Amino acid sequence: MFAGDQDIARAILELEAFLPEPLRALARVAYNYRWSWTTDGPAMFEAIDPERWVRCGRNPRRLLSEAPPPMLTHAAADAGFVGWVNRVAAELVLDAARPCCDGGVEPAHPVAFCCSEFAVHGSLPIYSGGLGVLAGDILKEASDLALPMVGIGLMYRTGYFHQRIDVTGYQHEYWLDADPDRLPCVKVTGEDGRPVTVLVPVDDENVTVQVWRVDVGRVPLYLLDTDLAVNSQRGRWITSRLYESNRAIRLAQYAVLGVGGVRALRALGIEPSVYHFNEGHPALGVFELLAQAQARAVPDNPSDTVWEQVREQVVFTTHTPVPAGNETYQRAEVLAMLGRIADLVGERERFLALGRIDPNNPNQPMGMSALALRASRHANAVSQRHGQVARAMWQPLFPGRSVQEVPITHITNGVHIPSWLRGPMRALLERYLGEDWLRRADQSATWAPVQDIPGAELWAARCTARTQLVEMIARRATSDRLRRGDRLDYAEAAGTGFDPERLTIGFARRLATYKRLHLVALLPERALGLIGGAQPVQFVFAGKAHPDDIAAKEVVRQVFALKSEPSVAGRAAFLEDYDMALAAQLVAGCDVWVNLPRPPNEASGTSGMKSCLGGGLQLSVLDGWWAEAFDGSNGWAINGDVMEDTQAQDQRDARALFDLLEQQVVPMFHERDAQGVPQRWVTMMRRSLLTCGPRFSASRMVREYADQVYRRD
Ligand SMILES: *Cc1c(COP(=O)(O)O)cnc(C)c1O
Repeated sequence: MFAGDQDIARAILELEAFLPEPLRALARVAYNYRWSWTTDGPAMFEAIDPERWVRCGRNPRRLLSEAPPPMLTHAAADAGFVGWVNRVAAELVLDAARPCCDGGVEPAHPVAFCCSEFAVHGSLPIYSGGLGVLAGDILKEASDLALPMVGIGLMYRTGYFHQRIDVTGYQHEYWLDADPDRLPCVKVTGEDGRPVTVLVPVDDENVTVQVWRVDVGRVPLYLLDTDLAVNSQRGRWITSRLYESNRAIRLAQYAVLGVGGVRALRALGIEPSVYHFNEGHPALGVFELLAQAQARAVPDNPSDTVWEQVREQVVFTTHTPVPAGNETYQRAEVLAMLGRIADLVGERERFLALGRIDPNNPNQPMGMSALALRASRHANAVSQRHGQVARAMWQPLFPGRSVQEVPITHITNGVHIPSWLRGPMRALLERYLGEDWLRRADQSATWAPVQDIPGAELWAARCTARTQLVEMIARRATSDRLRRGDRLDYAEAAGTGFDPERLTIGFARRLATYKRLHLVALLPERALGLIGGAQPVQFVFAGKAHPDDIAAKEVVRQVFALKSEPSVAGRAAFLEDYDMALAAQLVAGCDVWVNLPRPPNEASGTSGMKSCLGGGLQLSVLDGWWAEAFDGSNGWAINGDVMEDTQAQDQRDARALFDLLEQQVVPMFHERDAQGVPQRWVTMMRRSLLTCGPRFSASRMVREYADQVYRRD
């Protein structure tokens, strides 16, 4: 039982009214994103009206309420389809009925997982990239493990931006309004039937916040929203955009997420056993926790005890290995927006001090990461190497302790396998790994049968996945090029030039400068040599630069500068508007997944883990997760040592990239046996699946959070 159960039930009834009797069960399925990771859930909705499914942004609530009645009647008359619906619906009911796991978290006191973004599904546009994907995967895995959890986030009305690239290679951004009334979510109401709201002090305004609920399997995700007529225009704007450029608005977002989140949970009658702050954005929540603890405390209770009580309830995961990524704010900015939140603890100086590295230095700015580190009983980084980096970076916060003694552990990220393993590889693994293998996906033994999959079968799955990817690239790159006004022959070369049998190399990620897409364009003659060589390769790129990151946008332009070469038109494409759906297709289809972070800036990285699941091989700098995953036989590595001279490092690493591609990757791909199977390549695929499959699964990760962080006995 969670707040909003009745609102969901009512919404399901309303949606049922659109459906012929035999399809009624679809309404329940549509209101829980579990369909998105049920084996044939997405295909089921697609089968109703394939074109509309895409036009509705794969949002099942819209599909069911907008599909023409004859389409629904037709589906309802198909006994096979009705059986399919009933199977998916029954799985949802059975899953919800499972008892909670014995993970040290009581069902009455769930984990409150708080994050500024959640990537649950492409139809819910409240995410930008890796942080959101991780948060979404954690909710889904908690659901699969039956670990009691609720999510807390923001309902962004326009979410993250969409991307267009113009003919010169420059990025432009635009935002689309998401209408929550058409998403599979409900406004949570109280016993009086009115929406539950809480107030959050921002500057001199008490901003009213309402709460939406969206179900992610067994986990309710509560999303806070300030777009209400009672608020000022500025107040309404707070939950408009993810990673808003305006610093004052960002502070207001942190207030709503942190203070609003803790207040909302209370208003909803949820008493978490632990608040998990995923990155520092929700950290202001500790002041509301402090205020609540102070209100409960006996008068002569020293405030230290109250502080200790609050710390006992909070855990923190840091994701940012560079000081610049941990934003800080000057005293005046902070007090302008958050002064009355500071007043919750009584003293503004103490409030500011808690967010400084050196609390006694009044000239230092305040940051959410420092606050979260100080306010949590447990802190962790997201890979082994990131743990070392984070301990060194935050050592000044723990005077008197050596770097090794800094209390930051690591839990390496993982990916939710049922969400990211799709297509032919999923079918193949399901056949070989046995009944119910996903429930045992974090155990090495589960993956052992991979050793016995015949090379020809692995290769066939790889080739089918690549063919599907090439069809998608041809379609998408052609329409991207037509839209931006490229020459017709260049636009059409995307449709004719990509080859389903050609070695396909992918690079898709947030285009922060440290991700170093520019290395690909740094040695253009070698890149062109690979594309136009005797054994040509094809490249696919995607990724968004933050709207304010002019340097990153210039990098896209550098890559686009190569397009004037004739061989490039049909062998390299930059696909616009990278998102979850595009990511899933790319990681499933690419043979090689390239990652070139400037070490040690990659906290973990997760797209490579997704690519491993699809049988892709990694070629990556030894940073983030790959520094602990690479074993010499399961992919390729570029030296991860840090050089002072970053330009020299870029040159060194670009040379290493092309050396590996030219000398190892390309020859190995083309070395075939009599049946046309590249046996050495397939052996590396097996090694990659065996070593990375269990270790970089979200099952392993969430079990570690449950055992090492949430559990208190
Ligand atoms: C997985 C994923 C990411 C994270 O990729 P990295 O490897 O961390 O760069 C970012 N964006 C999307 C859309 C993803 O699906």
